[in-house]
Amino acid sequence: MNIRTAPAATGFRAVARDWLAQNFPPSLAGRQEEWVIHQPLYPEGEDWAAWKTAMADKGWAVPTWPTDYGGGGLTQEEAKILKEEMEAIGAFSPIGGMSQNMFGPTLLEFGTEEQKQKHLPPVVRGDIRWCQGYSEPGAGSDLAGLKTRAEDKGDHYLVNGQKIWTSGSVHAHWCFCLVRTDTTKKHEGISFLLIDMSSPGIEVRPLLLMSGNSTFGEVFFTDVKVPKENLVGGLTEGWTIAKRLMQFERSGIGARKQTHGELRPVDVVAKDYVGTDAEGRIADYDLRSRITRHRMWERAHRLTVERVAEESKAGPSAATSVLKNAGSIMLQTRGELLLEIMGMDGLGWEGDAYGETEQETLRVTLQNKAHSIYGGTYEIQNNIIAKRILGMLDHQ
Ligand SMILES: Cc1cc2nc3c(=O)[nH]c(=O)nc-3n(C[C@H](O)[C@H](O)[C@H](O)COP(=O)(O)OP(=O)(O)OC[C@H]3O[C@@H](n4cnc5c(N)ncnc54)[C@H](O)[C@@H]3O)c2cc1C
Repeated sequence: MNIRTAPAATGFRAVARDWLAQNFPPSLAGRQEEWVIHQPLYPEGEDWAAWKTAMADKGWAVPTWPTDYGGGGLTQEEAKILKEEMEAIGAFSPIGGMSQNMFGPTLLEFGTEEQKQKHLPPVVRGDIRWCQGYSEPGAGSDLAGLKTRAEDKGDHYLVNGQKIWTSGSVHAHWCFCLVRTDTTKKHEGISFLLIDMSSPGIEVRPLLLMSGNSTFGEVFFTDVKVPKENLVGGLTEGWTIAKRLMQFERSGIGARKQTHGELRPVDVVAKDYVGTDAEGRIADYDLRSRITRHRMWERAHRLTVERVAEESKAGPSAATSVLKNAGSIMLQTRGELLLEIMGMDGLGWEGDAYGETEQETLRVTLQNKAHSIYGGTYEIQNNIIAKRILGMLDHQ
């Protein structure tokens, strides 16, 4: 399809293409899954380090953030072009995760100038990692039931309580945390606090994930002193900020790259493992038809993600719940198909008998089981869709 391109956009496309040709190491093409599985740390290697530095210096990991905070200062249109040019060569941002996709955009909206100046530049460079202190043993889907207390002690807050399922907490430098500052109200008693993870009184206990990734943990706070300047927004205004951050979270999860075309498409993998018929098609008719359906869904999902991003100029909305659930179906279907296609070869956990891609496929598939849990479960997204988009359940 020919799309008429504005001269300015044509100019930026050439600039982006040229810069990527000079800075993106071809050895990393299409290797985003390695970055995803290593998060919040980085895969080792000179090519990874060079690419991270280049993107940090340029600010293009967060292309539309203001240059004042280290961002790229690009327009939405330029950022879209950059994304297209990166996808065309299998490039991806080597800096990301919740620091950039969730915490950063939220602080841009709600933080003070001092908070933005202090916290955003290190996030752009990928030097400081944040974790999300939302869930507690008694507060997951019913998040507003959280009990971790922050008491006003004059010049600081004193925090006591426990968080659980905290991704990346084992390596995190800071935590954006929901705390209760008023016990007489539920949603209106919550505040949004930034907590330095090196503060005395914080203990992180690792939890193992079935994918083998263990940067996950429980976080215990015992008499942790937090300076008052670390409060984001007003006291007891944390629920509004928390919900906005979850919209950024869901929009990122729903658009996750594995659903996009830069990974090896399932049909290509299937031809390698299952073989082809006389016409060059996947030999197994039933598998072929299921893969075709999956590829059509993938394509439709991708186009919908792009359309929603273009239409929602004010940032993510309740529609992100639809994309999050659709994204869960995409990723989990992809994983199940790949394991079926690989057969016994797809069950390798470690050892020479299994290829690196095969082992990684199993780990990513197991990791993606959690896609329909974190950021709010599949059922909770359906509740949000019913209430906020379809206007049902008004009586609640
Ligand atoms: C891999 C992974 C990473 C995570 N990372 C983080 C993180 O970094 N920070 C963080 O704070 N949390 C994190 N979480 C926690 C996650 O947000 C919670 O697990 C999730 O919100 C569900 O809460 P819960 O586990 O307490 O389950 P529950 O709330 O107890 O839910 C149990 C089941 O009941 C269903 N259910 C509950 N209420 C309703 C309802 N009203 N209607 C219909 N069904 C309902 C749920 O859908 C679910 O199936 C992570 C979780 C996982 C698995």
